[in-house]
Amino acid sequence: MNAVLSARARRPIRELPDELVSQIAAGEVVERPASVVRELLDNALDAGATLVTVRLAAGGVRGIAVEDDGAGIPPDELPLALKRHATSKIASLAELESVGTMGFRGEALAAIASVAELSITSRTREAAHAQRIDAASGEMSPAARAPGTTVEVRELFFSTPARRKFLKTDATELAHCIEAVRRHALARPDVSFAVWHDGRLVEQWRAAESAERRLADVFGPEFVAASRALEVARGPLAVRGRVGVPDAARARADQQYLFVNGRFVRDRLLAHGVRSAYEDVLHGGRQPVYALFIDIDPARVDVNVHPTKIEVRFRDSREVHQALRHAVEDALALPRAGTIAVAPASGLPPSASPAAPGTWHRDGPAWTPAAAAAWQASLALPTSTATTPLQAAEAAAPWQVSATAASSGRGTAARDTDHPLGFAIAQLGGVYILAENAHGLVIVDMHAAHERIVYERLKASLDTAQAIESQPLLIPAAFAATAEEIATAEAHADALAQLGLEIGALGPATLAVRARPAALAGGDAVDLARSVLAELAQVGASRAVDRARHELLATMACHGAVRAHRRLTVDEMNALLRDMERTERADQCNHGRPTWRQVTLKELDALFLRGR
Ligand code: ADP
Ligand code: MG
Repeated sequence: MNAVLSARARRPIRELPDELVSQIAAGEVVERPASVVRELLDNALDAGATLVTVRLAAGGVRGIAVEDDGAGIPPDELPLALKRHATSKIASLAELESVGTMGFRGEALAAIASVAELSITSRTREAAHAQRIDAASGEMSPAARAPGTTVEVRELFFSTPARRKFLKTDATELAHCIEAVRRHALARPDVSFAVWHDGRLVEQWRAAESAERRLADVFGPEFVAASRALEVARGPLAVRGRVGVPDAARARADQQYLFVNGRFVRDRLLAHGVRSAYEDVLHGGRQPVYALFIDIDPARVDVNVHPTKIEVRFRDSREVHQALRHAVEDALALPRAGTIAVAPASGLPPSASPAAPGTWHRDGPAWTPAAAAAWQASLALPTSTATTPLQAAEAAAPWQVSATAASSGRGTAARDTDHPLGFAIAQLGGVYILAENAHGLVIVDMHAAHERIVYERLKASLDTAQAIESQPLLIPAAFAATAEEIATAEAHADALAQLGLEIGALGPATLAVRARPAALAGGDAVDLARSVLAELAQVGASRAVDRARHELLATMACHGAVRAHRRLTVDEMNALLRDMERTERADQCNHGRPTWRQVTLKELDALFLRGR
């Protein structure tokens, strides 16, 4: 029983006042300054603009102005533009089905005007001068401007303080606004965009001759170098854009752009289709980067399912999923499974059974801790060797062979029970270390194993010293940063320091790594900084940093770990094996994959039909 309702006298049914209806609609459409920017940009592009300027004050909270050189609004229609359900874009249900414009609900301006001060200044090509309308008073006055439209929004949520409270810092809101412009810029390479914040130009994309060019302008040459272009017609879809190579994957899904018929969408089905194309080449939580433009017959997709039109619904979602997956797979030209034929043998852990006869998949099904423990027990390997907490200083040169570790003995030494992982024989495919131990052949995924070791070292040094030992860079490593990255670096300076990182702003769109963990001296500092910032941006409040610490360390470890295709000497390989034996939980990498596997002599014998 609802106490509040029952205690009150019943009220008669009434129609809601227009203003309130708009405010409710605003709740769906206007969440933050970036939502306003998105709606105003939609309108500008619908009006045929070729040049759009966005001016923001205090992250867009105090003010947003979007200027365009589009068709303009005739003076007599200005009051209508502000009315709810007033639009020039659809007139019938049939048109709704095949709508080719961005906006069509006719409520954005009314909704925004209900939660902020709004004015429109507009001039058509025919008009002698511009006309300005103030939404609150409805007053019109002549104004000066070239043909086109300026919509100005001030003091968002001024009259709804409860909602204003939900806004984040100006820097965060600015980042979201820029992101909104970036999405439009990607979709419309033929249009020039500029973003000003508090009087400073913070982002600018000039009209580009091709979508390729715009992609490069927006994401930078690094993205282009680390991605493959794609342009195919597959089933019901035409897909073009770029997909990042697996190595370019990030800790977060923050660089995944999908457009359907020119509109940015967030769609689980499509995202899953792309992700599944990376199945064999991306591990665990790593997120691919991509910008894909999908064109599909408008009759096969419903864009009218969400107030902000950010979600879509497909008539045949399976077909779309498959087509997208295959298009991306082809673009990546996935190196299919290797060629070593290993018969499924009972002695191997369950996940080591090849998924298909005659193939050996690098990524088997999930390797559960229980299976690992059982397998290990069968080999009489200690599950958690006591770890000597290694000092960060030692970790500084992970590939330096320490005196105790350097042992390249073989033969009888392979039976040494102190060295359960045996001794290195060779490196295979730039990825695996082959070693011989008492049971036969040991295969180690060198990156996964090293990652685990670095992770455990970082964890140990954070636990004992409260902060990871940091090492200043002789020359700070500068990189082009997004507004969000800059905001995150500023907001989380303390957390970063704890993680051994010092990242400061060098300019309005540049960050510099000044110091990084000593334990990660070998890796790419900029890469590391970007991943950690992406992670921190997600984690948010600094209290949460404590809780997400291990995840952050895992991200860092992945960057510090030796990359595939690095040639290792036998001594280096043996040093890694010894490190693995000394490190807790070294049997799985941070993504839960095994770091090594055993192929027993018996299994090898069976492979060659040799009876023992
Ligand atoms: P919708 O975009 O769904 O039609 P809006 O409330 O966003 O609804 O806009 C209402 C109308 O105002 C549009 O249909 C369009 O005719 C006009 N309009 C809004 N912004 C502009 C602009 N920048 N240039 C030209 N016309 C505009
Ligand atoms: Mg609109």
